[in-house]
Amino acid sequence: MGPLVLFWLLCGIAASFIASSRGANGCLWAFLGFLLGPIGLLMAFASQSAWRCPYCQSGVHKDATVCQRCGREIDWDADDDTFCTACGNVLTEGAAFCGKCGKPVVSTAPKTVD
Ligand SMILES: [Zn+2]
Ligand SMILES: [Zn+2]
Repeated sequence: MGPLVLFWLLCGIAASFIASSRGANGCLWAFLGFLLGPIGLLMAFASQSAWRCPYCQSGVHKDATVCQRCGREIDWDADDDTFCTACGNVLTEGAAFCGKCGKPVVSTAPKTVD
């Protein structure tokens, strides 16, 4: 085994450790580390951010309005937001009740009526 192979293996192990300490999938990152070597290791470091640019998927700061990598504006409220049908309050994901008016969250998806 050459030193480069050893280095590659170490990258995989380190990537796995880093990713799992960030709450990411350690097995997946070990695989990526073994596959990509130092690149996979760098990517594991980037995996720390739970906030990702919707355009290039790079980790960005939660409060960032512009992605540092692709330079595009990030509007965190743009997609996936659900609004209370009663008061229009923005609901947190998976919320069962509106935090403002307390009404049960009704899915905005069209329903068939019995
Ligand atoms: Zn980006
Ligand atoms: Zn409401």
